[in-house]
Amino acid sequence: MKKIRSIVFAGFLSLPLILASCGNGPQEKRYNITFLDEDQTQLSVVSVKEGEMPVYDKENPTKASTDQYDYAFKGWTPELVVATKDATYTATYSSTVRKYTITFYDEDGTTVLDSKEVEYGTVPTTSVVPTKASTNTKVYTFDGWDPTPVAVTGEASYKATYSEATRKYTVKFVNGETVLQTESLDYGTTPVYKGDEPTKEAAEGITYIFDNWDKKIVPVDGDATYTAVFHEIDSLGICRHCNKFLDSTEVADYSIKDAKVNEIATPAIGFENVYGKTSFDNGSVGIDLDISNYVTIYFALTHGMSYLYVYGGSDEYAKLYNLGWFQFVLKKDSDLNWHAYYKLETETTWIESKIDDGDKHATNLSSLLKFYNWNADERAAAQLLCSEIYASDAHEHAADDYGICKFCGILIDSEKACDAAVKDAQSIDEVAPRGFNSISSISGLSNGNVGASFDATKYKTLYFSLCHDISYIYLFGGNNSVNPTLWKDDWYNILMIKESSGWIVYFKKSFESNWTTNRSKVDGATDQNFSSILRFYNWDGKLSSATVKCTEVYGILA
Ligand SMILES: [Zn+2]
Ligand SMILES: [Zn+2]
Repeated sequence: MKKIRSIVFAGFLSLPLILASCGNGPQEKRYNITFLDEDQTQLSVVSVKEGEMPVYDKENPTKASTDQYDYAFKGWTPELVVATKDATYTATYSSTVRKYTITFYDEDGTTVLDSKEVEYGTVPTTSVVPTKASTNTKVYTFDGWDPTPVAVTGEASYKATYSEATRKYTVKFVNGETVLQTESLDYGTTPVYKGDEPTKEAAEGITYIFDNWDKKIVPVDGDATYTAVFHEIDSLGICRHCNKFLDSTEVADYSIKDAKVNEIATPAIGFENVYGKTSFDNGSVGIDLDISNYVTIYFALTHGMSYLYVYGGSDEYAKLYNLGWFQFVLKKDSDLNWHAYYKLETETTWIESKIDDGDKHATNLSSLLKFYNWNADERAAAQLLCSEIYASDAHEHAADDYGICKFCGILIDSEKACDAAVKDAQSIDEVAPRGFNSISSISGLSNGNVGASFDATKYKTLYFSLCHDISYIYLFGGNNSVNPTLWKDDWYNILMIKESSGWIVYFKKSFESNWTTNRSKVDGATDQNFSSILRFYNWDGKLSSATVKCTEVYGILA
């Protein structure tokens, strides 16, 4: 039994050898095939029968990425061949450049403007140009990235930066369709128009004078256009636009501003309501104003009755209904006659009113402007409201045959030759005629006495004005058929012209225009001192009480 067991055992022990040699004849050769990583680290050793292709018995090797590269197993070097000997193979890797996320943010650091994958080593760029909305006062311009982009070595982000500048706006000055000036101006600066004053051609009887821009010029806070606005001056010198009186650059702003201001009615445009008067009688007047020194008067008035006449009591005169503010222009013509024109403020056509002949040379507005109510019973209820009065003494000189301006009384053909001969005399307060200064007042003259003494020999023309306070006097001699008779309280213009026979003298009331019918005889016409030529004779011998007011003497040298 023991023997059998041994046999069996022996037979069991010999089985592998039997199996190994079964069918292959002689003993097989095997080789150790070694696999190394790129860095020579041993990865695996496999035993491969001769003639068989080695097989790497693990997962493909890997290589850790660097910042710059990712790696992928590419194969072995040298190329695997069937085993014929022990062999060593080394892993090889392919590499790819790594990419990183680069983010471009707006200034706020949260708004993503662009995000992209960029290869290591490349300086990132973006096609996005950041913008920042302007404010009312500032504009912003992209000024680069913060920090400045550098070659990629990892994830990175950049923020937009902006430079700021004061916002500019376009400011235009225009005249109708014509652009006069265009500027780009910083916010907050005040525009200045630097061009010539805008002009507009006269048309259809209207003259245009630049008034102002259509709105107040203010510091720039947006695009702005300023448009020229013109006064529209009609045939009587009144602006249709603002109702100002603009026919002269020397408008005398005479007003009765001290009168009680009446707040009942809104005055016409361009006027202040300065006068209120109630309860006047037919033919009485509302306004006491010396107009002798003016050639144009302009004002407006309204009233509280159904209607009234101005200047006279019939339809030939200005007839004012209770419709609102009426405007009045009074103009003196070259014969020194007043003409009156009126219209409603809202109308454009002036109507001429009749003025009574006796009032045509009025020196006070109260003589010219008279109110007549059609219904006399309503007189007491009348209320008259008058506005500021504008008056102008500006005029074109209109010389008469003797070179005296009909309007102002100035000797206009000889201004350079004027000799204010009696200026040293005492001045007086009396308002002298137009063109004169009152400078001498002589009282207590006796018959034949004279008001002024100076050498008249060097003159060929003398011109002056005088008045007195007695009933009347004769000038130059005591004979009313050949010498001037000067009535009390009127100013007379005296014109003396030297001819070969001696002085010829003309005189007229200062508002009259005709000299030639008032030629005076001059006694002692060859005398060459003014005091010998100019003698006063009182008709009734009361000269002791006389006051003679004489004006400046103008002379033309011979
Ligand atoms: Zn105007
Ligand atoms: Zn004049």
